[in-house]
Amino acid sequence: MKQNKNGVWVSWNENLKYNYKSLYTIKTEEELQTVIAKSEKIRFFGSKQSSADIAAGTETLIDITAYNKILEFNDSDKTITVQSGVLLKDLLEAVEAKGWCIPCLPDINTVTVGGALATGTHGTSGKLLSEYVTNCRLVLADGSIREINEGEELMDAVRVSLGVLGVFSTVTFSCEEIYTLHVKEHPESDSEWLPKIKERLKKHDFLRVLWLPHTDKGYVITGDKIDTNTEIKEDLGPDYLKHRRKASKILYKYTHIFPWFTVVANKLLYRGFFRATKEHKGSLYQATVTKSRGSTLELAEWTISLDVFPKVFEELKREINKWSNKSFIHIPMDVRFVYKDKSWLSYAYGQDTVTMGCVSRNAATADSYEAFKSVERIFLKYGGRPHWGKRFKAKDAELSKVYERWNDFKALRETLDPTNKFLNPYLTDLFNAKVVEHAYA
Ligand SMILES: Cc1cc2nc3c(=O)[nH]c(=O)nc-3n(C[C@H](O)[C@H](O)[C@H](O)COP(=O)(O)OP(=O)(O)OC[C@H]3O[C@@H](n4cnc5c(N)ncnc54)[C@H](O)[C@@H]3O)c2cc1C
Repeated sequence: MKQNKNGVWVSWNENLKYNYKSLYTIKTEEELQTVIAKSEKIRFFGSKQSSADIAAGTETLIDITAYNKILEFNDSDKTITVQSGVLLKDLLEAVEAKGWCIPCLPDINTVTVGGALATGTHGTSGKLLSEYVTNCRLVLADGSIREINEGEELMDAVRVSLGVLGVFSTVTFSCEEIYTLHVKEHPESDSEWLPKIKERLKKHDFLRVLWLPHTDKGYVITGDKIDTNTEIKEDLGPDYLKHRRKASKILYKYTHIFPWFTVVANKLLYRGFFRATKEHKGSLYQATVTKSRGSTLELAEWTISLDVFPKVFEELKREINKWSNKSFIHIPMDVRFVYKDKSWLSYAYGQDTVTMGCVSRNAATADSYEAFKSVERIFLKYGGRPHWGKRFKAKDAELSKVYERWNDFKALRETLDPTNKFLNPYLTDLFNAKVVEHAYA
């Protein structure tokens, strides 16, 4: 095991920086257990791609990215077991090589399995990634291992647990037979796509809407399962579409100084990059997951029940279109759909859910991005829940109102981690946990 001393931990987009005393790079479960058992306060991190302040901020840190082996396939059950530091990319390539798939994927493949599970990472038209876990080994605060299987109530608490109940060591995912998706993309006015959500969710196997604030338009992406050999007329639109992110970065460069310019930028981006229709086919992973990202950005994302979404959407749109408004929102706001589950801290606990992303393409100035504040205020008003890996201000008082099992989760956390070993200052605030002094004196 490697130990670095007295360095600075920096998040992916450089918005979070912390000094640390010890940084361990572990490669085995035993090393993970040893470091956790002997540390007073500790956090652990994967690809550091969360915007929320949840991955560092303690004197001792564990880098989990070298704990990244694919361990086992079970052909009869279609399961794959991996170490939790494995990148999603490697997991998904291994799954596809077997002719399998995980049927709901986020739009990023550079995150680690442990980080993705801890924060409730999700895709669209399916369940959170955590819901496909059938077994895991969790390293508890005292360094012992707790093996948890699907069906145990503890699994419903652990699936989405921000790394405060323990650290995922190995994880088993259940997979399905791979399928081919016929993807079609086109722009639509808000008055068309919004009322069609439920109908489209029934009709299509994949639905995602990139909403384009300040343009009255959404870019609708649907996918239907087809036989792999079905011929389609592939049309990926003009070649210059690949420069969208670069163009956004340039157009939004000074919008922290002139926020109103966002309206102009969005209209230009719509005209340049979102008017083309597209058609293609591929596996869910190949056809819908972005494989490379150049620019840094800062993200927030809020979720709301499917039935309430149209009301929240209309209020948000009214608010940002007012003359007095200060919230000008960068393109796109990613609208996706997650089906109901039983995980205590899942956004979809007990309800089919719509998730709506909010991006600042200028990570360094995200503190002054009014959009994050307006989106949070409006979603919270209707019982919305924040994405754990992204930016939000809500704490214990607000979260206890929107998560039915919040207090059960807090009680379980206190039992499993009585000395608050796994809490950094942000998480201490989030859970309104008592500060434990000299726990290991
Ligand atoms: C460009 C971009 C696109 C994104 N797209 C999506 C998307 O489509 N859908 C979505 O839902 N989210 C998305 N996210 C959010 C992202 O999936 C989460 O922030 C994820 O946690 C990042 O993984 P990571 O490996 O960087 O984790 P980190 O940021 O390193 O860690 C996140 C949390 O997980 C904990 N953790 C890490 N490893 C373990 C472990 N082994 N056991 C327990 N806890 C652990 C850490 O302590 C920390 O609390 C996106 C983020 C970015 C930057």
